[in-house]
Amino acid sequence: MASPISCICGARLVEEVTDRGIYPVGGGPLIPFRRTTDYVMCDSCFRTYNVRSLMERAETAETIESLEHLAERVEREEPD
Ligand SMILES: [Zn+2]
Repeated sequence: MASPISCICGARLVEEVTDRGIYPVGGGPLIPFRRTTDYVMCDSCFRTYNVRSLMERAETAETIESLEHLAERVEREEPD
């Protein structure tokens, strides 16, 4: 479903964000959200991210990806 999400410093934050929790970097079981104010901390720079904002980023990334695929298809179908 979602792709991995990275910190702005470049370090991987989570493997995947779902509506029920996150999958930690390096594998492992789902870590369920306990409340809507859960945070994820970067191991490298210790920035914290609200999980809800991460979920929004994940959804945005998927939307962008699908739009890019759509654009590729349109480009191929257009005559030169
Ligand atoms: Zn970081």
